[in-house]
Amino acid sequence: MSKEKLRIEPQRTCLGCHSSANKSDLFRLQWVDGEVGFTSSQKGVDGRSAYLHKNSVCMQRARDTGIIEKGLRLTSASNTENFLTKQIENLEVIATKVG
Ligand SMILES: [Zn+2]
Repeated sequence: MSKEKLRIEPQRTCLGCHSSANKSDLFRLQWVDGEVGFTSSQKGVDGRSAYLHKNSVCMQRARDTGIIEKGLRLTSASNTENFLTKQIENLEVIATKVG
């Protein structure tokens, strides 16, 4: 029952369902070199990042509402929609294999 084992993780808000979660449970999206992508780097390019749960429901919501573009303050056309669609497909393949 050591308290030292209970590490408090930084909390971030998922843009799909607007609930907070441990940072490590979320995907981190960033706008890098003109494209949206996941990054595990702690050094943000310019601090603009968005978080999403690692599930297709939250990703679909984020894609359908366009909230990632808003979260990353993107004004021009981006690859966000295609990118999220690809991730959702990947997750559904994994879910099918596991379930
Ligand atoms: Zn979520």
